[in-house]
Amino acid sequence: MTDAAPDEIDLDYARAIADRANRYMDLYAIAPTPENFSIWFSYSRGDVPELKRTIDVLIAGKKRFDAMTSRELHKTYIASGFTAEIAGDLPEQFKSVMTDASQYVSDAIADNQTQMLAMDEMADQASSGIDPKHLVKRLMGELNNAATRSSQLQSNLSETSRELDAIRESLNHAEQRANTDTLTGLPNRRAFDECLRIAQIEAMEGGLPLGLLMIDIDHFKRFNDNFGHGVGDQVLRLIATTLRDRLRENDLPARYGGEELIAVLPGATLAVCEAVGERIRRSIAECRLTRRSTGETLPGVTVSIGIAQFRFGESITQLIERCDEALYLAKRTGRNRIVTELRVEGRSVG
Ligand code: GH3
Ligand code: MG
Ligand code: MG
Repeated sequence: MTDAAPDEIDLDYARAIADRANRYMDLYAIAPTPENFSIWFSYSRGDVPELKRTIDVLIAGKKRFDAMTSRELHKTYIASGFTAEIAGDLPEQFKSVMTDASQYVSDAIADNQTQMLAMDEMADQASSGIDPKHLVKRLMGELNNAATRSSQLQSNLSETSRELDAIRESLNHAEQRANTDTLTGLPNRRAFDECLRIAQIEAMEGGLPLGLLMIDIDHFKRFNDNFGHGVGDQVLRLIATTLRDRLRENDLPARYGGEELIAVLPGATLAVCEAVGERIRRSIAECRLTRRSTGETLPGVTVSIGIAQFRFGESITQLIERCDEALYLAKRTGRNRIVTELRVEGRSVG
């Protein structure tokens, strides 16, 4: 046991890590700024596995660590406090259960030691010719005490385990609430960003395509103005359901912002995304909503969709920017359509 603070780092160890970080920075010609140093210190220490995986695939893919890449790495994994998220969030309740459990165990150990001493004493008495009946009685007494203590310990530990289950469940619920958009039930932007980061690493590791769809409702302000926000909310829910129905299990749809939805499609090329996007666009355009109070059929809504495919080594910001440009072009060229990044670059009519 040591009294050192949990985040205290041994001086020699820190120096070794810093040396290693400096060597990496020399090797990859990285400017020795405080931000870059923090990235490579963390990489050398290996305390943020996602940062390490990302850098490893970038190195394997011979990607240069230019200023933009470094900025992105810093923003994503260092400045966001990716490291201590979980440990720092442990609730008081959890600490108290753990303190109780550790108290039970140390009491049990202390009891055992006392009992061992008593047994040793009895063994000495046995060889010194004391009345065997008396010894047997004492021995049975000690064994009875041990049995009672052991069943008490077992019941205390079972109680602790039940409390831990309850804590785990409430943590799961809290995490789910924090990651879910309440209106549509889709993952929210925070959850999406996290999943996209992981999908990006996996795409680079596996050399697989990764597609992105950004979906924005057309003239939604006008729709809200005409029919009210309540009906607008219903439309958002309907579009979320369509999105869920039209995607595969591995794809991840999310609510990205107000009336903007997004989906990441692991393994999907631009062409696949285009086909999926077209099915989504058509289903939404064909939907008809009925106002429950009056039975009135409302005019349909349409969506515009921008599509981009991840390029090895680029940042998530770059991917999203290209997808957003494609979406913007879809809006400018008439709405109710899908546009891929190739069209933005003028390389296709897609
Ligand atoms: P465009 O075709 O260019 O996308 O036009 P738009 O009207 O959809 O775009 P704009 O950005 O001007 O307006 C977005 C609208 O989306 C305005 C806002 O009231 C609506 N909106 C955003 N979030 C919600 C929501 O949660 N519920 C409802 N009902 N409306 C929302
Ligand atoms: Mg919008
Ligand atoms: Mg819109």
